[in-house]
Amino acid sequence: MAEGRVRLRSNVVARDDAWHLVPGEVLIARRPDLMKPPNRPTQLQTDESMYYVSCGVCSRPINVIMREGCTQCSHGPTPQQLEQAQEEHRRGLEAVEEERRRRPADD
Ligand SMILES: [Zn+2]
Repeated sequence: MAEGRVRLRSNVVARDDAWHLVPGEVLIARRPDLMKPPNRPTQLQTDESMYYVSCGVCSRPINVIMREGCTQCSHGPTPQQLEQAQEEHRRGLEAVEEERRRRPADD
């Protein structure tokens, strides 16, 4: 994995009203009213809230659709996006396997 691509977001905020900082998948579970007008969730919160929602046509989550492709639903990847996603997935699995070889389990 390329260095510097990991991002972290704190789960601790000192203000009671900082709902704009709450991840979208948590916000929709805890305060779904804040995801609807007149409230205005951030684009990131909207994207995060949709990440775990299954497609209404093929019933698969978007990460699976983007990795495996889909001929049923309109939001599937282009052939080029599909090839790129599969290559990234393959490289990710290789990186995990390489790390496991480098660092045997402690138990
Ligand atoms: Zn679908």
